[in-house]
Amino acid sequence: MSEQLTSKGAMALEDKYGAHNYHPLPVVVARGKGAKVWDVEGKEYFDFLSAYSAVNQGHCHPKIVNALTEQAQKLTLVSRAFYSDALGVYEKYITEYFGYDKVLPMNTGAEADETAIKLCRRWAYDVKGIKSYKAKIIVCANNFHGRTVTVISMSTDPESRGGFGPFTPGFEIIPYNDLKALAKALQDPNVAGFLVEPIQGEAGVMVPDEGYLSKAYKMCKEKNVLFIADEVQTGIARTGKLLACDHENVRPDILILGKALSGGVYPVSAVLADDEIMLTIKPGQHGSTFGGNPVAARVAIAALDVVKEEKLAERADRLGKIFRAEMEKIDSEMIGVVRGKGLLNAVVVNPKGDKTAWDVCVKMAENGLLAKPTHDHIIRFAPPLVISEEELMEAIEIIKKSVLAF
Ligand code: PLP
Repeated sequence: MSEQLTSKGAMALEDKYGAHNYHPLPVVVARGKGAKVWDVEGKEYFDFLSAYSAVNQGHCHPKIVNALTEQAQKLTLVSRAFYSDALGVYEKYITEYFGYDKVLPMNTGAEADETAIKLCRRWAYDVKGIKSYKAKIIVCANNFHGRTVTVISMSTDPESRGGFGPFTPGFEIIPYNDLKALAKALQDPNVAGFLVEPIQGEAGVMVPDEGYLSKAYKMCKEKNVLFIADEVQTGIARTGKLLACDHENVRPDILILGKALSGGVYPVSAVLADDEIMLTIKPGQHGSTFGGNPVAARVAIAALDVVKEEKLAERADRLGKIFRAEMEKIDSEMIGVVRGKGLLNAVVVNPKGDKTAWDVCVKMAENGLLAKPTHDHIIRFAPPLVISEEELMEAIEIIKKSVLAF
C-alpha cells in the first residue's frame, strides 16, 4: 500500500486518523541513509533535525541495523522475569563505556528521567536521611525532560503543562544558568537533587556560561545533593564530546541517556549511577517490560561502538565550528544570534514582514534541507554526526540560499 501512497495521501491519513499532537513540516519521509532522507516522491533532503538528535550515527547505519536484525531473528523479548544472554553483556559494556557502577535500562527519555527522579528520592530517604516524602529536586525554568505527568510537573512551558494538572509535587524551579538562584535553593535541607540539561535543547539550544556546570556540581557536592544530568539530547557525541558535561569535566551522580543510545534505530534509554544510589531500588520496586530487552541491548552496543569507531565527537566538534562560522557570515537581517556546541546549533530568526522561522524552514525544505523551528523564532540545526564536510558545505549553501530568498 505504501508504494502507491503520495505525500499528500500520507499527510491526509495522519490528519484523519492520528491525534493532532504534532505540527510537522509538510514533508513525508520514506527512506533515509547517512545524513540524508528521501520523500515519497523521491526528493532528496539533508536531515538537519536528526530526530531531535537520536540519529547521531546517521540514518540506517548498517552496523546498528545488522545488530537489530540479527538479534530480532534470535530473541526479541523475555521481560526481566528471566535473564537474557544479551543484557549482562550490554550492562558491562555501557557501564565501562561511561564509567559508572551500574545501569538501569529503560526505553524512552521521559521514562529515564522518571527513573532518575525515583532513584534520587530513594537515595534521599535511604542514604541522605531526608524525612519521608519531604525530598525536593531542583529543576530549571524552560527545561524539557519529556511528556509524562511527573515530567510536565517540572515544566514551565504552558503548552506542555496547560490543562494537564494536577501536578506531581516535590520540584523547585529556578532560572537556568543562575548560580545565585541555585545557591539559594540549595539552602533547603530537604533538597536531594539538581536535575539539569547541560545545554537546554528544546528551549532553543541555550548554552550556559562557561563554568556553570562545574560550579553547580561543586555547590551540589557541598550540600550533599545529587547532580543529575539529562543528556538525552546533548549526550553521545552531539556537542563535540561524548557527554556535554565532559566540556567542564563534570561527572554527574546520575546520568540520563536516550535517543542516540540506539542511533535512532530502536527506543533505548538508560540511567547510570554508582552503587550507593542505584542499589537503593530493590527487586520489584521499578522496571519496564521492554527495558533492557535483547534487541535494545545489542542495538545500543552497536550504536555506542559506532560513536567511537567513527570518532563522531571529534567530527561534531570540528564541523560545528565551521557551521557556526558560516552562519555568522550570512548577510541577512533575518539572522540573529548563532549559538551552539558541536553539531547542536541554533539560529535565532528575526521576522521580516510576516515571514518567520517557519517560512524559512518551509523554504529550506523546498530547497532540500529539513529543520524545524522551536519557540517560533529559533531554528535548530543538528545534522547526523556522520555528515561529511563536503555535505555540510552543500547544506550550508541551501540554508544561505533559503534565507536570502526573503
Ligand atoms: N530529555 C531531554 C533533554 C529531551 O530533549 C527529550 C526529548 O526531546 C526528552 C528528555 C524526552 O525523551 P523522549 O521523547 O524519548 O521521552
